[in-house]
Amino acid sequence: MNHGLRRGTQHLTKQCCKRLFSHSPTKRYASDIVKKEWSTPLAKILADAIRTTGPISIAAYMRQVLTNPDAGYYTTPSSQSKTEVFGKKGDFITSPEITQIFGELVGIWTVTEWMAQGMPKEGVELIEVGPGKGTLMDDILRTLRNFKTFSKSIENIYLVEASAPLREVQKNLLCGPDAVLEEIDIGYRGINKHTGAPIVWVEDIRLLPYNDKMPFIFAHEFFDALPIHAFECIQPTESEEKQQPKQIMTPTGPLDLDHTNQRNTKNRPTGPQWRELMVALNSKSVVENIKDEPEFQLSRAKISTPNSLLLPEISERYKALKSQPGSVIEVSPESRIYVADFARRIGGYAPPSEPRLPKRKPGEVAKQVSPGDIPTAPIQKKHPSGAALILDYGTTSTVPINSLRGIRQHATTSPFAYPGQVDVSADVDFTSLAEAALEASEGVEVHGPVDQAEFLHSLGIAERAEQLLSKLPADKEEKRKMLQTAWKRLVDKGPNGMGKLYKALVIVPENGGRRRPVGFGGGVVG
Ligand code: SAH
Repeated sequence: MNHGLRRGTQHLTKQCCKRLFSHSPTKRYASDIVKKEWSTPLAKILADAIRTTGPISIAAYMRQVLTNPDAGYYTTPSSQSKTEVFGKKGDFITSPEITQIFGELVGIWTVTEWMAQGMPKEGVELIEVGPGKGTLMDDILRTLRNFKTFSKSIENIYLVEASAPLREVQKNLLCGPDAVLEEIDIGYRGINKHTGAPIVWVEDIRLLPYNDKMPFIFAHEFFDALPIHAFECIQPTESEEKQQPKQIMTPTGPLDLDHTNQRNTKNRPTGPQWRELMVALNSKSVVENIKDEPEFQLSRAKISTPNSLLLPEISERYKALKSQPGSVIEVSPESRIYVADFARRIGGYAPPSEPRLPKRKPGEVAKQVSPGDIPTAPIQKKHPSGAALILDYGTTSTVPINSLRGIRQHATTSPFAYPGQVDVSADVDFTSLAEAALEASEGVEVHGPVDQAEFLHSLGIAERAEQLLSKLPADKEEKRKMLQTAWKRLVDKGPNGMGKLYKALVIVPENGGRRRPVGFGGGVVG
């Protein structure tokens, strides 16, 4: 990942920045900022950046607060062990941490897919993105030991992890506390204690080899941590129109706004336009010094930016909302890139003989940019194979809005307070993930999303819980109660449970919809 703050702001010219925001920096801000006591070291770094170049996108803010190498929520080596981020003592708890049954069932699910895809004796790869404490992968691998032919077929285990402290936690669990990782060109390498298979850690999935293996990819509560952009649709007034510059700078050169169909020939506003919601300084905290006010707040850009011109064009779903001033959309291009990568590893990818990005005249805006348009090397597969299982919370048919949130010590808090010490996340747009996967590879199909409860019930969560409970000695009443509460929480469809809130989506090889994976309406095949 690129952690540079500049990535979110570099395309804005200085002149553009000055006019762009209602909360643009003033001399008053500058002197007050010097005196301010910041909630975290990262708050000061972000404030200085915003003061210098203007407000930053939510995506740039999320990247910094979550994965800044020195001060990010996941990446900071804290005095408190990183294991404390998750679990009862930490800020939040995830399904694999609640009970071992979750990982065991994901392991069983993987076996059912492997069986349905011909049970190959070699060439299987397991890939997990955002493995946290490594518990899910550990429970999967422990379960796979019971399926000897399958576990022998695993050639590589890949873990995609941006956090060095969490990589260490994962290594301790999966390879043993005494294991020393070998540094290799793409990351680090160790050996799994359960299966003897090599485990390779990388920071970005694009570093992993593209090949003709059978990849099983797991993403549990990963996509909610990926950066989003938010846009609000407005009907500009004539005076706002006048403030709009004729040209703005984009990473690929100057962009002439008259070519974007935003104005008609008489230079009058033609219709609603998207404006990006940016992260700006909150004067109540920064100038008035009001206690408990977050240091940052959202501020709507006054004029179009390259992001607001391009990103809402990538899907018909966003275009449909453009006719309604006041609508807000959240878009995560990084999530689409990740899911497109999954799809191509499973379904293969043949780049079109004609470049998909049509040649543009200077100053003309691209009509549509999606992961499918980004030139990528071919991924040759004899047959599509493998699967990607995505488990997360989010919307199933609607586009997420206002979903950016902060979580600290199991409570919701402002995402703009204590940057780097609060977990910041957003709802996952499952339809957008499905759309990007299907666009990226012709060799895949997508099933779901289904409720987590449905997925886990069809894999036999109640039966497995019963089996574990029957093995507990009679005097272990406390343990019995904990296990009962734990598994029921995973499938509870009420407001405090995880059964309905969390969803499962799967990408599998294209088969004309004839075979449904287990958990998505299908049965065990093989
Ligand atoms: N899957 C785990 C952890 C979820 S928290 C569980 O459910 O318990 C999110 C995980 O994704 C953490 O491991 C975090 O370090 C990692 N992560 C967050 N952003 C990332 C990024 N951009 N690239 C790679 N890993 C990331």
